[in-house]
Amino acid sequence: MHILSSTTEMQRIALEYKRSGKRVGVVPTMGFLHDGHASLIRTAREECDVVITTIFVNPLQFAPTEDLSRYPRDLERDTALASEAGADVLFTPKAEEMYTPDFALNISIGGVTAPFEGEFRPTHFDGVATVVAKLFLLTQPDVAFFGQKDYQQCMVVQKLVRDLAFPLELRICPTMREKDGLAMSSRNVYLSPEDRINALVLHKALQEAKTLIERGERERSSIESLMKSILTSIPHLRIDYAAAADATTLAQPDTFATTQAIVLLLAVRLGSTRLIDNVVVVEFEV
Ligand code: AMP
Repeated sequence: MHILSSTTEMQRIALEYKRSGKRVGVVPTMGFLHDGHASLIRTAREECDVVITTIFVNPLQFAPTEDLSRYPRDLERDTALASEAGADVLFTPKAEEMYTPDFALNISIGGVTAPFEGEFRPTHFDGVATVVAKLFLLTQPDVAFFGQKDYQQCMVVQKLVRDLAFPLELRICPTMREKDGLAMSSRNVYLSPEDRINALVLHKALQEAKTLIERGERERSSIESLMKSILTSIPHLRIDYAAAADATTLAQPDTFATTQAIVLLLAVRLGSTRLIDNVVVVEFEV
């Protein structure tokens, strides 16, 4: 596996791959890789001739109050994991090179960025859209792989690709979970042993709300109340949102149509750790 941090070198190599007709896949990450990231790299390996994994803890997507400086990092472990999962190139750009002092771009996408994460992290998706656009131009992918774990982020990237006509396909890969159901996340390492157990309540809330919908419930307030009542069984857990929304538009009607695909979205804080998770409910009993 080729490891490089120079942005000009990355783009030069990527354009060479492109000229030689190779199908290039990119897996953008912030590092501290786990099996969720590995599953994206493995999928890219199956579909592409060249797999580029990027590791960049993007300062633009963190608010000043957030965890940028303490975000977990372990390049040695990441290198082994990315290589084992099948990456050909590990691109680890430096913030100073990605964002030179005169950097002045901000990509701000309307609509899908407004609710949920957008409400609690108002500048987050501008940072995501801006870095993803730059990473696409540096790595020139034919296919880009993202995880459903960050559901709203997937919708933002989809909008970015469509609105700017990036010539690439997006693959949204399923959320990888620990055996007990907790969605894998680099931030899980922050959890105290007690909160690691408490964190299971997210999966429980999603599964029970999913079952409720599958039994025919269509009232948004009933679905959301069930998730909130399960989450509040953990006294010190703070809910940012526990919402049911249309899976393609994120609209929040009072009552869902019978055939409407619904996404259940959660964001909670346990101590100083913020966790998100989601599940899409698409199959209905007649
Ligand atoms: P991150 O390093 O957290 O920014 O994540 C990089 C990519 O990996 C994003 O597309 C995430 O959605 C994806 N990802 C993170 N956690 C998981 C997971 N548990 N399962 C699948 N994909 C994930």
